Amino acid sequence: MAVTAPFSTPSATAPKGCTDLPVIRERGQREVFCGLTGIIWLHRRIQDAFFLIIGSRTCAHLMQSAAGVMIFAEPRFGTAVIDDRDLAGLADANEELDKVVNQLLDRRPEIKLLFLVGSCPSEVIKLDLHRAAERLNGQVRPGVRILNYSGSGIETTFTQGEDACLAAMVPALPQAEAEAPASLLVVGALADVVEDQFRRLFGQMGIDRVDFLPPRSAADLPAVGPNTRYLLAQPFLGDTARLLEDRGAVRLAAPFPLGVEGTTAWLKAAADAFGVSQDTFEAVTARGRERAHRSLERYRGQLAGKSLFFFPDSQLEIPLARFLAREMDMTLTEVGTPYLHRSHLAEEIGMLPESTQLSEGQDVDKQLDRCLAARPDITVCGLGLANPLEAEGLTTKWSIELVFTPIQGYDQAADLADLFARPLVRRTKLRV
Ligand code: SF4
Repeated sequence: MAVTAPFSTPSATAPKGCTDLPVIRERGQREVFCGLTGIIWLHRRIQDAFFLIIGSRTCAHLMQSAAGVMIFAEPRFGTAVIDDRDLAGLADANEELDKVVNQLLDRRPEIKLLFLVGSCPSEVIKLDLHRAAERLNGQVRPGVRILNYSGSGIETTFTQGEDACLAAMVPALPQAEAEAPASLLVVGALADVVEDQFRRLFGQMGIDRVDFLPPRSAADLPAVGPNTRYLLAQPFLGDTARLLEDRGAVRLAAPFPLGVEGTTAWLKAAADAFGVSQDTFEAVTARGRERAHRSLERYRGQLAGKSLFFFPDSQLEIPLARFLAREMDMTLTEVGTPYLHRSHLAEEIGMLPESTQLSEGQDVDKQLDRCLAARPDITVCGLGLANPLEAEGLTTKWSIELVFTPIQGYDQAADLADLFARPLVRRTKLRV
């Protein structure tokens, strides 16, 4: 039976506007965290994985201070500190690495997937971690897989750590046969609660063969092949997407599942690909849309008309800007992103107001000048810029919080709006 939806259902590609918005391109000094930071949310997601950073004391301190407050059980990441050594010492370094890995696996039998995570100190760059992973795969107990990727901070931004991690997993995914039934793969780390909600919605539409990458357990690595259709849940997964396509998987173009509109269009892209009727789609999504619309109402009063400036940091900036402009009636001053993946973001860019000023890359001094001249009501930026901007009297939001918090889907739409309303409320209270 069809349920009449009280709200219109945008299709995945319908709200296309101008995809040729002007872009300021800058290549100067940048203020970003490195890809090691991704371990903070990835280790919570893959529950039998361990992330062994091969790094320096700086890397260890970064991870301790960034993640220390979030550890409530025995941590599933650690740092093997490689001190200064010349090339002649590399044989020792490899031996030491093997020893550390074997000790770790002996002590922690629950580990099924071990990532060797490279970093940027020169003594680590000299180590071939890919070969080390191959060597160790032949030594460790059966049932344990060792993969490697780089979390180096050279020329990357912090969410690329997740892209590198997932890209390292793609070659380990089983091959799905050409005649295997069509399956849906959702790509990008999501909180368990969000995965459960999406799995339920897909199931109610009749899409039962649904996998998530990364999976919750190393034993659940999804098979991938020509009948795999994949939906990106995060906008920063360019390398992973390329490798999945090399395996025959086909991307379903869609905006990202942020806010009511983005979530509906994202789900609709899967529904269309799997032949779900419009009536079924309406029936399955109507309640969620209605609930989310209602929950956003109270935040619209706080956010409508407020101006917003995004510094490039998480690569979530464009989908967030689309949600805040279209559903919260905020005004976009500048939307900066570290990299602009034009094809993965085509639907998003097409939904932005035509007056939106996009910027790609960073020349931090010039961008600070533009931000201070614009004096936006709220500035989204990395941790390093937040305090100086607050000292200038601006209200800031840390972009990294948007990656740590479950914000995708209907039931998280209000939490997403709240993340932007809270700093404004705090600023108002401080002024009283
Ligand atoms: S990987 Fe590089 S940027 Fe990241 S903490 Fe280590 S030394 Fe610093």
